[in-house]
Amino acid sequence: MKKRLVTLLCGLLAPVALAADVAIVVHGGAGTILKKDMTAEQEQRYAEKLEEATRAGYALLKEGVAGEKAVVAAIQVLENSPLFNAGKGAVYTYDETHELDASIMHGKNLEAGAVSGVTTIKSPIAAALAVMQNSAHVMLAGKGAEAFAKSQNLEQVENSYFNTPDRLKALQKAKARMQQQQREDGGQQGSERMGTVGAVVIDHKGNIVAGTSTGGMTAKRFGRVGDAPIIGAGTYADNESCGVSATGHGEYFIRYNVAADICARVRYQGVSIQRAAETVINEELKQAGGSGGVIAMDKRGNIAMPFNTAGMYRASINTEGKFSVGIYKALMSIDDTPNPTN
Ligand code: ASP
Repeated sequence: MKKRLVTLLCGLLAPVALAADVAIVVHGGAGTILKKDMTAEQEQRYAEKLEEATRAGYALLKEGVAGEKAVVAAIQVLENSPLFNAGKGAVYTYDETHELDASIMHGKNLEAGAVSGVTTIKSPIAAALAVMQNSAHVMLAGKGAEAFAKSQNLEQVENSYFNTPDRLKALQKAKARMQQQQREDGGQQGSERMGTVGAVVIDHKGNIVAGTSTGGMTAKRFGRVGDAPIIGAGTYADNESCGVSATGHGEYFIRYNVAADICARVRYQGVSIQRAAETVINEELKQAGGSGGVIAMDKRGNIAMPFNTAGMYRASINTEGKFSVGIYKALMSIDDTPNPTN
């Protein structure tokens, strides 16, 4: 009888105990983010949005909601904000339109979903989740992805919904540079491309989930697809090793298979998440000339956020409930006390 009671109590207490181990890390893009180019107000706006996204995901994780829902909730806060290059505020293609990419991966069974080159889906990360959960495929592109999203009753918008004046200015700047340098793509982009968003979480079941959403690179042409929707390049999750969401010059992240490489190092070399992510971003990728960064989390909820650019918008709440946010190399000290209900 006594044994039964103990078993029953353990059963009741277990989810609460496990829920304490949840964690989340988000990013809002890496690039030439210099303090001298930012006002204190701008810094605050970015920090607040990052915090809102992190807490939105964290609150769900604390309630015991599945990791994929927390990833989507966090990313949607950033997709809906014009500050970031995802959803509203996405960069422009060469033809002054928007083509969005997103993906999500679940670390338990290595299930994944992605959309690329979509133009009318309000939340590409929601579409990626629907591909993962409700289709037989991993990646849907263009018109087909849009037809699928409609069949899933996902919200559709006009392409102009994603317009913002700042991103239009960035396009004009990139086009002028392309003309001057006589090149076909937007080239190495410092500030025009910034703002891809992503999230990695560990949920109460110990599942690692990672997701990424972006408008890609300013002035992209010819149906260019970046790393964000490519599993292994921009997004990866495996409960046996780690979860990663990347941001940066996508062509390099694809060629170097960045997200999967970091997890492979953790799994097969037995190195820490910090060491694996640092090596890939600040050695391999840097030597190759690829700029950017990643957020990464291992199966114990340890977090790494390396980047080889001047800055990366990022925030996290670790397994101890400690919140942190950063834009430049050093983290900011805004608030050390998370409010799990918000
Ligand atoms: N990785 C994205 C792409 O290449 C851009 C970025 O993260 O800034 O499409």
